[in-house]
Amino acid sequence: MHILILGSGVLGVASAWYLAKAGHQVTVIDRQSGVAEETSRGNAGMISPGYATPWAAPGVPVKAVKWLMQDLAPLMIKYGELDSNTLSWMGKMVANCNAKSYHINKERMMRLAEYSRDCFKDLRNELNIDYEQRQFGTLELFRSQKQMDGLDKDTQVLRECGVAYRQLNAQECLEVEPALANVKDKIVGGLHLPGDETGDCFKFTTALAKECEKLGVVFKMNTNIQSINVCNDKVVSVTTDKGIYHADNYLVALGSYSTQLLNSIDIKIPVYPIKGYSLTLPIEDESCAPISTVMDETYKIAVTRFKDRIRVGGTAEIASYNLDLDEKRRANVEYVVQDLFPGATDISKAEFWTGLRPMTPDSTPVLGGTKYDNLYLNTGHGTLGWTMSLGSGKFVADIISQRKTDINPEGLSIDRYYA
Ligand SMILES: Cc1cc2nc3c(=O)[nH]c(=O)nc-3n(C[C@H](O)[C@H](O)[C@H](O)COP(=O)(O)OP(=O)(O)OC[C@H]3O[C@@H](n4cnc5c(N)ncnc54)[C@H](O)[C@@H]3O)c2cc1C
Repeated sequence: MHILILGSGVLGVASAWYLAKAGHQVTVIDRQSGVAEETSRGNAGMISPGYATPWAAPGVPVKAVKWLMQDLAPLMIKYGELDSNTLSWMGKMVANCNAKSYHINKERMMRLAEYSRDCFKDLRNELNIDYEQRQFGTLELFRSQKQMDGLDKDTQVLRECGVAYRQLNAQECLEVEPALANVKDKIVGGLHLPGDETGDCFKFTTALAKECEKLGVVFKMNTNIQSINVCNDKVVSVTTDKGIYHADNYLVALGSYSTQLLNSIDIKIPVYPIKGYSLTLPIEDESCAPISTVMDETYKIAVTRFKDRIRVGGTAEIASYNLDLDEKRRANVEYVVQDLFPGATDISKAEFWTGLRPMTPDSTPVLGGTKYDNLYLNTGHGTLGWTMSLGSGKFVADIISQRKTDINPEGLSIDRYYA
C-alpha cells in the first residue's frame, strides 16, 4: 500500500518508520526544508511517561486565575487572540478539570507513554542512533509542603499503571541531583521517576528520517499542503503548491496545523496551539549542572541535561498561532535555570526558541481512523509528543496495516469526542 504522511515532525517520522517497516510504500510531505523544524525542534527533551499528566486537573481553573496575576507565571493569555475557537477549547478543558476526567485522561496518556518508552528501548536495540540520549529519570521538584501534600492523586495512578516512583525528602533529592546542594534551602521534596529518559528530539527525528530513507521512504520537503480532497467516504488526493499527490491511505501528522485542514473536510478535532518556550545553553561547569531532568513544579519548567548542553523548557501561552519570541517569557525560563543551577551555564550564550504544542483539552492525542475510510490521524500530543512519538507511530501503523495494536485502543481515537 502507498501511504502519504502529511507532516514530518517527530510524529510523522515515527509513523513513517513503522509503516515502512511493515512493508508499505511511504511518502512524507512537509513545508519545511528539513524534518522536525517546527514544534519537534526545541522541546524540553523529556521522554517522561512518569510525568504524563493532563493539564486539566481539579483545582486548575483557580490556579490559572492566580497564575495570570503572578510574575514569572506558568500561564499567559494574549487577550487579543481570544476568539470563539480559543474560548471553546478553554471551555472543553475546564470541563475536564474534575477528579473523574483527570483519572481517565491520565491513564490513557500513561498507557501510550509507557508503551512508547518501551518502543524507544526496542529501537535503541535495533538502530545505532545518537540523540544525546540518557536514561536517568525525572525529578519532580517541590518548593512547598502543599505541593508534596497534593501528590496522592498522581501516585495512585502511578501505582495502578505499575510505574516505578519514589517520594523523596529534600536530602534525598540532593542524592539524585547533587548540584541542587547549592540551593538546598529552596527544596521541600520531590518525586523521582527513575524510568524516564531524556534526549534531543530534533537530533532523534533527523536520524530516524535517515533510517526511513534507507527503507525507501521518500521525503518531499518545501511542499505546502493546501487541501485534502475527498469524494464520498474517501480521500482521493492532497493538493500542494508543488502539485497533487495520490495514495491509498493518508495520515495527518501536522501538529497544531492539523485542525484547520481537517476542519475543511468536516472533521472537527479540538487541537489548539499552546505556545511554549525553551532555551538551549552550553554547560560551563559540569559540577553545577543537572544529571537528568529536573521539573520545577512551581514554575512548570523543565531543566534537562543533554550531553554538554542544558535545555530549559516550559510555560504555556494562549496566543493562537503567534510565534513571536517574547522577551518577558524568556525571563521565566531563565529564572528557573539560574535559580536551581547557578554557575552551570552562561545565560548570554542561550539559544531562544518557541513552539506550538498541539494540545487537546484532555491532553490525550487523537490517533487512528476517521469517518473517511482511508484517512488516519496521529496528532494532538500536546506537552508530550516526543515522549509518545514511537508508541503513537507504531500504534497508528498497526491500525493502518490492519493489525492488532499492542495496547488497548480505548479512548485514543477521535470517537471519544462524539460518544
Ligand atoms: C516548550 C515546549 C516543550 C516541550 N517539551 C516536551 C518534552 O519535554 N517532552 C515531550 O514529550 N514533549 C514536549 N513538547 C511537546 C512536543 O514537542 C510536541 O508534542 C511534538 O513535537 C509534536 O510533534 P508533531 O509531529 O505533532 O508536530 P510538529 O513537530 O509541529 O510537526 C508538524 C509538521 O507539519 C508541518 N506542517 C504543518 N502544516 C503544514 C502544511 N500546511 N503543509 C506542509 N507541512 C505542514 C510542519 O512543518 C511540521 O514539520 C514540548 C513542546 C514545547 C512547545
